[in-house]
Amino acid sequence: MKRFGYLAPESLAEAVAMLAAHPDATPLAGGTNVLVQVKEGHRDVATLLSLRRLPELHQMTYGDGVRIGAGVTMARIAADAHIRADYTALATAAALLGSVQTRNMATLGGNLCNASPSADTAPPLLALDAIAVIAGPDGEREIPLAGFFLGPGRTALASGELLREIVLPAPEPRTGSAYVRHIPRAAMDISVVGVAAALRLDEAGRIGAARLALGAVAPTPLLVPEVEILLSGQEPGDALFAAAAEKAQATAQPLSDVRASAEFRRHLVGVLTRRALRAALAQANGRG
Ligand SMILES: Cc1cc2nc3c(=O)[nH]c(=O)nc-3n(C[C@H](O)[C@H](O)[C@H](O)COP(=O)(O)OP(=O)(O)OC[C@H]3O[C@@H](n4cnc5c(N)ncnc54)[C@H](O)[C@@H]3O)c2cc1C
Repeated sequence: MKRFGYLAPESLAEAVAMLAAHPDATPLAGGTNVLVQVKEGHRDVATLLSLRRLPELHQMTYGDGVRIGAGVTMARIAADAHIRADYTALATAAALLGSVQTRNMATLGGNLCNASPSADTAPPLLALDAIAVIAGPDGEREIPLAGFFLGPGRTALASGELLREIVLPAPEPRTGSAYVRHIPRAAMDISVVGVAAALRLDEAGRIGAARLALGAVAPTPLLVPEVEILLSGQEPGDALFAAAAEKAQATAQPLSDVRASAEFRRHLVGVLTRRALRAALAQANGRG
């Protein structure tokens, strides 16, 4: 491994200032992506800027919704009773990512900033209407997470900016969410396809609002607005969910690679869309 510098700021303000002084520095959170890339020779780093001592990034606060610091680990998200109950799709994704050891190190911010099309927390957060809070030399700005992913390995973060936290709105009554993915093995594999759904039912039991997001079937994780339009105001049921699955399949732009063919991925989008919608509906009904 080549030699590299190491910076260890102790506050977000110090980190942003260090990043301005060392524009070539690479942020380091849990290191489960970046250190592997460096060790395997896929990435050169001149300087690592550790985010581990920034208290602002480790906070998880509840108020009108929840604010989850970029440095919060998957293990913490998966174990959090509020997240499991109110943002189930996210808790599910965090619980199935990697191994116990990976989840103890891997952070939410790292998963998003690595910007892999198959990042498991991205579809749930898109379906749950997440906002990304970004800190930089000019202060903070907020963008919908849907605008955060620009392509494989590319995000809306400008030079000198860090992801500070993710904000999720408070869940309304009669809402439910779910995340399902396919991997060829039982665990410890990257998603071949991941699908997240979030549903809100109205007083009459019809679908008041719906969100569906896909992972690993396009250059970025993807929302499917056609499904939202199709489901809105409708009576939930298998025939409707089958029609939604067809819309999701039409939106997906899967590639063939060593993991799966494009055809198999498109098939999976249909199967997993129906499963995710059914699971979200069951939770929404249970929270009536
Ligand atoms: C064995 C193993 C299994 C895995 N399984 C899965 C899996 O099932 N699903 C999955 O989605 N991923 C998986 N991963 C990938 C990885 O664990 C996750 O993407 C993880 O969430 C990355 O978080 P991290 O804190 O380790 O990020 P790091 O490696 O520290 O950083 C990742 C990238 O994000 C940048 N970054 C980190 N935090 C910030 C921030 N706050 N602001 C700006 N930039 C930032 C870094 O500079 C780097 O480019 C696996 C990895 C391993 C090693």
